[in-house]
Amino acid sequence: DVQLVWLRSDLRIHDNTALAAAAAKGPVVAVFLRSVAQWQYHGHGATKIDFWARGVSALKDALNGLNIPLLHRDIDRYDDAPQALLDIAREHNIARLHFNYQYPLNEQRRDQAVLDAFKKEGIAVHGYHDAVAFAPGTLLTGKGDYYGVFTPFSKAWHKQVSAEQLELRDTPEPQERLSIKSDKLPELPEFDDAPVGGREWPAGEETAGDHLARFLRFRGRHYNDQRDFPSVRGTSELSPYLALGMISYRQCLQAVMSENGGHLADGDAGLTTWVNELIWREFYQHVAVGFPEVCRYQPFQEHTKQLAWREDDEGFKAWCEGRTGYPLVDAAMRQMLATGWMHNRLRMVTAMFLSKHLLIDWRRGEAFFMRHLVDGEFCANNGGWQWAASTGTDSAPYFRIFNPTTQSTRFDPDGEFIAKWVPELAELPAKARHAPPRDMLTQLDYPEPIVDHKAARARALDAFKALSK
Ligand code: FAD
Repeated sequence: DVQLVWLRSDLRIHDNTALAAAAAKGPVVAVFLRSVAQWQYHGHGATKIDFWARGVSALKDALNGLNIPLLHRDIDRYDDAPQALLDIAREHNIARLHFNYQYPLNEQRRDQAVLDAFKKEGIAVHGYHDAVAFAPGTLLTGKGDYYGVFTPFSKAWHKQVSAEQLELRDTPEPQERLSIKSDKLPELPEFDDAPVGGREWPAGEETAGDHLARFLRFRGRHYNDQRDFPSVRGTSELSPYLALGMISYRQCLQAVMSENGGHLADGDAGLTTWVNELIWREFYQHVAVGFPEVCRYQPFQEHTKQLAWREDDEGFKAWCEGRTGYPLVDAAMRQMLATGWMHNRLRMVTAMFLSKHLLIDWRRGEAFFMRHLVDGEFCANNGGWQWAASTGTDSAPYFRIFNPTTQSTRFDPDGEFIAKWVPELAELPAKARHAPPRDMLTQLDYPEPIVDHKAARARALDAFKALSK
């Protein structure tokens, strides 16, 4: 009985629940549906889509090593998925379809439509919860609600997680060759932006595994001390690989356990903090399911719907281009434009600058990040933006507004990160890079701050105070 596995953001052959389940039942054929128009509608840019395509190509090679053919179909929108899959199922006389769930709303709807269509046709179909330890809806508060706050979620996660949930799924053994051949992978269309490309972000499981091993070997134990300093390579840089499933959270956690005496919550402080970041990732996936309004452009905190965001195209443009006159903000934005990735500390700083100092709607920033990030992932991006804008789950209290210059002196004390990404300031003494002297700006070809911190802070506080709770 031939089994069909539909792969999406789970581009790996190791520890893949749907693939393992399919292989246990019979010979496997895999399929990838490329829906560039839908991805663009979701705001993904060239860099992420290019990374996706290279990931599919690496996956094809890995599958071919197991004699599993990879079919490739172009569909326009998710609505076309049921028909495309049914056509394949009929053509190849498929006994059962397998796939791993994705949690943002449109993906849930697409998956439900596929389940319904297959059931209607009388072809067996099965979805698996693979990207998270707990299926959304199975880790709830005492009252039976989804968690809207991270810390109790994380505590419950640690308390309830079982060895079985974290066990690696079997990698399929090479199968007998089938008469079905892999499809040639088509070229990508031209995009308006040029993708960052493969030198910066090589795709595939092997690279992801190397990143993980190197991180745990050299940086994991220093994670607590180094994770906030953007000029130090202190974090794992695994986010693009986790976002497209070139590595799984189980592989990450198993690797931590073998470094950390079998523990996730006790033991080395760096490693346990890192585990918590992976739980943040899962938390935001549960939030997307439990509070689906966040998938409909709505804030998590309902009273913030009325916030009087400013229309300020010029300010938005300066932020996008890294020309706000706040060196750390500008360095961060330029890092993202050049590499498709931004350090977490700086995602917080830049997102807060846009939503508080410029009082520009966080949804504009969320979309801009999505367009440029190689790791752009709806749940984490939306969660991070709503945090910074004080509209979300564990939001920063609205009155705690990062001072971008203080953030700079704390987290880039020697101005190294600034010098790298804002080279026009590199000649200044390190201490002067955080706030270049006004009389030198013309000579440096660097803009004046587009807002004054104190005045901007007061304006944001007023806007939040005006909201009735
Ligand atoms: P590490 O510090 O090594 O963490 C390990 C993994 O844990 C990450 O790869 C990621 O999968 C997960 N993780 C870490 N922090 C978070 C977090 N706060 N929320 C959810 N998951 C987390 N992350 C994305 O993967 N995609 C996004 O589109 C995204 N957008 C963000 C937007 C804003 C405004 C903010 C504040 C954060 C955003 N994050 C996003 C979360 C975080 O910044 C990145 O995951 C992290 O910087 C990636 O670097 P790393 O892999 O070295 O992380």
